[in-house]
Amino acid sequence: MALNTLNEIQKLWSRALEDLKKKISDVKVYDAFFKTAYIYSIEGNKLVLACDSKFALTILKQYADLIKESIDKESGSDFQIIITTQEDIESKPKEKIIEEKPVFFKSSIVDPNYTFDNFVVGLSNKEASQAGLIVSANPGDLYNPLFIFGGSGLGKTHLLNAIGNHIKETKPLKKILCITAQDFLYQYLEYVNNSQKNEDLAGFIKNFDVLLLDDIQMLNDKKKTLEFFFDIYQYFLQNKKLIVLTSDRLPSELTGIDARLVSRFMDGLTVQITQPNSQMCEDILKKKIVGAGLSLDEFDDDVISFVADKFKSTVRDLNGALNRIIFIKNLRHADHIDLDLATEALSSILNVSNGKKSVNEYKILNTVGSYYNLSVPQITGKLKTGQIALARHIAIYLIRQQLDLPLKKIGELFSNRDHTTIMYSVSKVDELLKTNEQYKIAINEIKKRLNG
Ligand code: ADP
Ligand code: MG
Repeated sequence: MALNTLNEIQKLWSRALEDLKKKISDVKVYDAFFKTAYIYSIEGNKLVLACDSKFALTILKQYADLIKESIDKESGSDFQIIITTQEDIESKPKEKIIEEKPVFFKSSIVDPNYTFDNFVVGLSNKEASQAGLIVSANPGDLYNPLFIFGGSGLGKTHLLNAIGNHIKETKPLKKILCITAQDFLYQYLEYVNNSQKNEDLAGFIKNFDVLLLDDIQMLNDKKKTLEFFFDIYQYFLQNKKLIVLTSDRLPSELTGIDARLVSRFMDGLTVQITQPNSQMCEDILKKKIVGAGLSLDEFDDDVISFVADKFKSTVRDLNGALNRIIFIKNLRHADHIDLDLATEALSSILNVSNGKKSVNEYKILNTVGSYYNLSVPQITGKLKTGQIALARHIAIYLIRQQLDLPLKKIGELFSNRDHTTIMYSVSKVDELLKTNEQYKIAINEIKKRLNG
């Protein structure tokens, strides 16, 4: 009997159960311990049977011979049966149960941290994510190869591994090789230069059912490696084995790769991941905050929109920013993060990531605040006491003058004031500057601090 799909394996176990039922006199034991067990994996002649507790394990082990007898009878095989608990499977790396040492790509794994569950879907990656789900559900049958391209830090590696994890979970017998093109290159060179004659790299790779290859652009101009890859590539496609490739550029821009191979990359489906918008970045941040074991209540809303807005160019930067905030939060033992703390935590990266244009609205708010001894929320808030209102006018003026932000956007920063209020502040300061030497000095000093 073929044992290639989860369905076939489940069928084998239910038939073995029927057989066992006849042999086990104690119905309670059968119901409590046999019916709840299941076949976790079959690799070669090793069959792993999982049960739900240590106690069940002790019981099932007493019946090990009977279990083997029934499974062998129903499958027509001679299995080595390993009985273990669900808990042990979860806590042990898989290799410990199935002691099969790979000859090549020894450190290749599907990263368990990158899943569909923690992949936020929005406009920028909707197609890619859907395509990923479809190929996971029908590996090799639909859209082969799947080619995912997009700029650095936008989630290609995450999606690639999510596909791997999804297939692993739903089709545990599929053998998955998840590597970077860099790994592929090194392994190939190592193989060509020092291999033992009895090892066969191409054969080793062809033995997998799914090949997830990250950053294919790394093979640009690697002629020999590409030839070697092409043979494997065709084998996978012909045998309906899934290939997923990622690239930081379009296939047509892979100029260092033979055109015949590049055009074949487009045989399946090509999808793009683009830059996320602010809303999606906020969703990602929220997910990451909860994923880090924190509560959203610990963050002011404007902190999340601030970070999302500032770091939306790549999700990697976004994560970096969040990590810094959490780091500073822990360092300070702060139980709440407001915009002040966030701006401070990020001040160093904000300047770096903005390159030459190191002045931004948050820096202006902070600088005006420290000049007038006020906090940022005081400046952006609603109170109209003399000094506060003045500082607010100046901050608005400088943001408009130095950054040329739209009035509406500035209004949003200042407790959602409307654009006429913002215009009023700008003209008010303009006027003060013409008539009052003191304001001129103050504003020049603030500008000096801003740019210095
Ligand atoms: P790439 O491979 O395109 O350079 P990565 O997959 O390494 O980018 O993503 C960089 C970081 O951003 C990773 O930590 C990843 O988990 C995270 N990330 C990217 N996109 C998303 C998303 N849509 N949802 C959640 N996290 C994401
Ligand atoms: Mg990557």
